[in-house]
Amino acid sequence: MQTDDRIIIAGAGPVGLVAAMLLAEAKIPVTIVEAEDDISDDLRASTFHPPTLDMLDAYGVTGQLLAEGLTCPTWQIRMHETGDKAVFDMSVLADVTAHPYRLQCEQAKLCRIIRDKLVRDGNVDFRFGHRVTGLSQDSDGVTLKLMIGQNQDTVDMRARYVIAADGAGSKIRDLLQLEFDGKTYPETTVLASTSFPFHEHLEGLSNVNYCWSASGNFSLLRLKGFWRCSLYYNPDLSMEDAASDERVQGQLRQIMPGHDRFDIIDRRPYRVHQRIIKEYVHGRVLMAGDSAHLNSPSGGMGMNGGVHDAFNLVEKLTTVWNGAKADLLDQYTRQRQPVAYNQILVQADKNRKRMAEKDPAKRAELLKDLQAITSDRDRLYDHLYKSSMFAGLDAAKAIG
Ligand SMILES: Cc1cc2nc3c(=O)[nH]c(=O)nc-3n(C[C@H](O)[C@H](O)[C@H](O)COP(=O)(O)OP(=O)(O)OC[C@H]3O[C@@H](n4cnc5c(N)ncnc54)[C@H](O)[C@@H]3O)c2cc1C
Repeated sequence: MQTDDRIIIAGAGPVGLVAAMLLAEAKIPVTIVEAEDDISDDLRASTFHPPTLDMLDAYGVTGQLLAEGLTCPTWQIRMHETGDKAVFDMSVLADVTAHPYRLQCEQAKLCRIIRDKLVRDGNVDFRFGHRVTGLSQDSDGVTLKLMIGQNQDTVDMRARYVIAADGAGSKIRDLLQLEFDGKTYPETTVLASTSFPFHEHLEGLSNVNYCWSASGNFSLLRLKGFWRCSLYYNPDLSMEDAASDERVQGQLRQIMPGHDRFDIIDRRPYRVHQRIIKEYVHGRVLMAGDSAHLNSPSGGMGMNGGVHDAFNLVEKLTTVWNGAKADLLDQYTRQRQPVAYNQILVQADKNRKRMAEKDPAKRAELLKDLQAITSDRDRLYDHLYKSSMFAGLDAAKAIG
């Protein structure tokens, strides 16, 4: 057994890597164990909200993200066929953030920027190809059982604390037998990326667009060099069928009639869940990010919320590491769990429901309400303060 006085982070996704960076800055020894051999390139989160950019700026990460992504000074909700829209201009937030825009940038780029920084600085021990398979804890620490690569070799590793940032299918959550209450939405979503230049064909697009169309709804999010389209399918279709080239081409043709074939870079089907655990702190094991909460991607809050978890948790963990009482960690659950539920899960669910509305009269009413917000500066400010996740951070801070 390798025994060490350190913190182990399970998972080199955005949440685990941000936590590792913050712990390394605090001069706390960190080992990061990651099941895969490298950072995942799966196209998932792409939206960074202003407070996340503000937080990461202090560590020299935001400048690089901005260089690798596309800023979105506005985002919009629109009727596809008519082009009628509500445009949310984020410049109203300029007095509360150094980054009054959304940033569109793949989460893998954030992970690689942080991984490279930590490898350069040499103060984090990376163990790729190490999968958590077992866990036990006592009053002094936690022992993880890890499977190395595919060859079934195992090693035990011990730490004072473990941060479980091992994602939606968290093995650690299972090992702790935590209930992950919630629901799975019925529809299959396909994330299709294409080099097709929607901005040259659809007038007045922002870089983030949530669209109602006669046949349903979809979203168009622009990244550097391509567009990412979220397409929704009838629950009766299998995931494979929904993601077939034929179906995806068909959906894109409905968006751009008259255009025959689209260059599809990637097609990824997924089911969306809304789930949360009750307690984030289990002895010396601390849950963060998708291992603790999952929400609809509508509004782009899952990764941002997980990064906010990492900042909150590491602040307390550093204090405890340096001698404060361990019950300070309970404040992490008290502050972050209700915010994840009330400000992220509930809000993402509302966003999804709004866009899933099919009745033309109700859609027209919804759009009218949204346009009333965008044309009133105070209401726009309040709306964006909340949807950009500032309100959630304020709410967490207000909890003792
Ligand atoms: C289609 C889609 C679009 C999204 N868009 C957005 C968006 O725009 N904005 C936003 O904020 N969020 C978005 N999200 C959510 C976002 O992708 C997640 O919230 C985010 O990836 C969570 O980060 P994480 O580090 O907690 O988990 P993950 O990114 O899942 O990382 C977990 C890591 O743990 C590793 N791991 C798993 N099991 C083990 C094990 N047993 N041992 C060791 N390592 C293990 C995995 O290999 C992985 O590297 C989107 C999600 C989807 C599916």
